[in-house]
Amino acid sequence: MTVADPRPLTGEPVSLDLLNTRWMADGEPQDLFAGAAGLTRVQGLAAWLESTGLAARFRADAATLVHLLTAREALARAVADPADESARTLVDAVLEHGRIRATLTSEGPGERTEFDDPTWGPAWTAARDYLELLAGTPGRIRKCASETCVLHFHDTSRNGTRRWCSMAACGNRAKASRHYARTRER
Ligand SMILES: [Zn+2]
Repeated sequence: MTVADPRPLTGEPVSLDLLNTRWMADGEPQDLFAGAAGLTRVQGLAAWLESTGLAARFRADAATLVHLLTAREALARAVADPADESARTLVDAVLEHGRIRATLTSEGPGERTEFDDPTWGPAWTAARDYLELLAGTPGRIRKCASETCVLHFHDTSRNGTRRWCSMAACGNRAKASRHYARTRER
């Protein structure tokens, strides 16, 4: 059975999407992997695997969840402070569990990922995705500009000026509070 993903922001690259399994709702921290929206932890994991397109390759089980939580912590720290050496060590420790093998396919050169233990697959995939973002456009990895919001996104706007997880949520709230501050000053 497929469980609907209850998160406010989905569809970001998988490393940031993993961070976005934590969000705020009415001032309360929510965690897709810790019983948010009345889902069990494993149902939350199943919803996440479905959302990220990983459900066909990996199982929603307790071991996979533990490894994903390890990867989420490592990535959260690395994203929050790219100079944090211990965070890099943690990301590296996740990457240890998989490797990429070069392969020649019918379409030409390809890559095949291998895991010593498939329950590390989603965690490794998220960590690897973070490396790809860093190799591409690291300056476009952003946290929502709202102080009360914990969501992250990859800014793919042409000018690189995206500030909010979503205009409908945080963007409009910021606009409304600026407006409120202005009208109070008068
Ligand atoms: Zn936000």
